[in-house]
Amino acid sequence: ASGYSLLRDPHHNKGLAFTEKERDAHYLRGLLPPVVVNHDLQVKKMMHNIRQYQVPLQRYQAMMDLQERNERLFYKLLIENVEELLPIVYTPTVGEACQKYGSIFKTPQGLFISLKDKGKILEILKNWPQKKIQVIVVTDGERILGLGDLGCQGMGIPVGKLSLYTALGGIRPSACLPVTIDVGTNNEEMLNDEFYIGLRQRRASGQEYAELMSEFMSAVKQNYGEKVLIQFEDFANHNAFDLLEKYSTTHLVFNDDIQGTASVVLAGLISALKLVGGSLADHKFLFLGAGEAGTGIAELIALEISKQTGAPLDETRKKVWLVDSKGLIVKSRLNSLQHFKKPWAHDHEPVSKFLDAVKSIRPTVLIGSSGAGQTFTKDVVEAMASFNEKPIILALSNPTSQSECTAEQAYTWSEGRAIFASGSPFAPVEYNGKVYVSGQSNNAYIFPGFGLGLIISGAIRVHDDMLLAASEALAEQVTQEHFDNGLIYPPFTNIRKISAHIAAKVAAKVYELGLASRLPQPENLVAYAESCMYSPKYRNYR
Ligand code: NAP
Ligand code: MN
Repeated sequence: ASGYSLLRDPHHNKGLAFTEKERDAHYLRGLLPPVVVNHDLQVKKMMHNIRQYQVPLQRYQAMMDLQERNERLFYKLLIENVEELLPIVYTPTVGEACQKYGSIFKTPQGLFISLKDKGKILEILKNWPQKKIQVIVVTDGERILGLGDLGCQGMGIPVGKLSLYTALGGIRPSACLPVTIDVGTNNEEMLNDEFYIGLRQRRASGQEYAELMSEFMSAVKQNYGEKVLIQFEDFANHNAFDLLEKYSTTHLVFNDDIQGTASVVLAGLISALKLVGGSLADHKFLFLGAGEAGTGIAELIALEISKQTGAPLDETRKKVWLVDSKGLIVKSRLNSLQHFKKPWAHDHEPVSKFLDAVKSIRPTVLIGSSGAGQTFTKDVVEAMASFNEKPIILALSNPTSQSECTAEQAYTWSEGRAIFASGSPFAPVEYNGKVYVSGQSNNAYIFPGFGLGLIISGAIRVHDDMLLAASEALAEQVTQEHFDNGLIYPPFTNIRKISAHIAAKVAAKVYELGLASRLPQPENLVAYAESCMYSPKYRNYR
């Protein structure tokens, strides 16, 4: 290849880090200024550049440009500055990027499959330059974060999630494939936007939708084999549960919103118990939001209590209550409930207002999974603080604009007693002279390590026990020092080490369940996981 094209190939480009020898051997002389710098200095310079931008979206664009220019520099930057850059390439900024995707994107990223491609999906997969794919993150853009239907512009999400698979979980970038399935959008603003990049029609549903998804799922298996992990991301719940159920017996599928979120929240609860005492079974849980995240978490909590106590699931589910847009989910509503809500319809008189539900149920743990911002009001938090010495409050909705409350509100309204974590990050809060650091309860802790565990064991199916294993592994990574600071999650700084531990525990469970195809089982799974992880170190080109 010519030096010119080497500089334009993001997988191989090293920019000013090409050595004198490489410049001679690869026709690069004159195409670069004379200075030769090392990788570390490049990181320092890029961070300096990025910090010049005050607007988060500009930082996002700078990161995307870097990913398109020099992949190894992008990943080194992200890995070494994960706390600072996660909010840029991921929630909250990625949400704004999706809203404006049509006008900001320069080079298309990922694979777009639309209704127009019916019958040709296998051909489309073959257009993708990489042949060995291990993880696909796919969305249809209908429920992007808590921002709703963003149609084809949801592509920012699979792209962002996969860059975390690489940076946090060590999956090779070339083994990652972001996919957006475009079946139209019901977002009027997008339909009327002349810069919109997707199909300009209302969403297909029913058989037309099912057929396109089915063709996609078959084509993926045919092209990449049985062991490719397909992560469903940000589908609306009227499709998400059905897709997961339908394909869980034929494919290696994982729904991050249902399962990944459940696993990360359970981990947070396991570690919160060390601060508040008692076992999971001693607690009472109330959710605002009974969709994918809410019912997914609820089910994993009930499952874990059942494993711990031996009580049957229909008993342990009674410790968990959910509120949706119509109020508390109770028996009298049973007939009109969507199927995923039915297990949660317990005996109670109807309650329409959330505050009244809080007062009547008196939960010890309050979880926001509604996508509706500012719904944990002062009254709600004060009520939680009135009957709990240390109320556990998780505001999971993303991005920051949709958070049920802010960290500052949670600490102020509970007089500093809340154990608080949120889906999108908040800066530390000072209250009455004390600094409170809140954790980020986000599935980004789980899915990279979870996926790595599936891959290194050659898993062929996902099982709920693997989610429990991931929760335990994450909770084990919280140290006394973190607890002393009120944290129920470890900081993201050590996330690659944490991911390796999660991967090892998940893989061990895959072997135990007889679902592993990579045999024999490696002796030390943590060391093996670490040895499999991608590193962004430059290679020497001779
Ligand atoms: P979903 O399936 O659409 O569920 C949303 C639920 O919230 C539904 O039950 C809905 O009620 C209810 N709801 C909406 N507005 C409400 C209101 N004002 N009052 C009461 N209930 C309300 O969505 P999802 O996938 O669960 O996601 C929900 C949120 O969680 C999103 O903001 C997402 O970003 C966030 N999330 C966070 C993480 C994380 O890692 N932190 C992971 C996944 C999702 P109806 O059923 O009556 O319509
Ligand atoms: Mn999601």
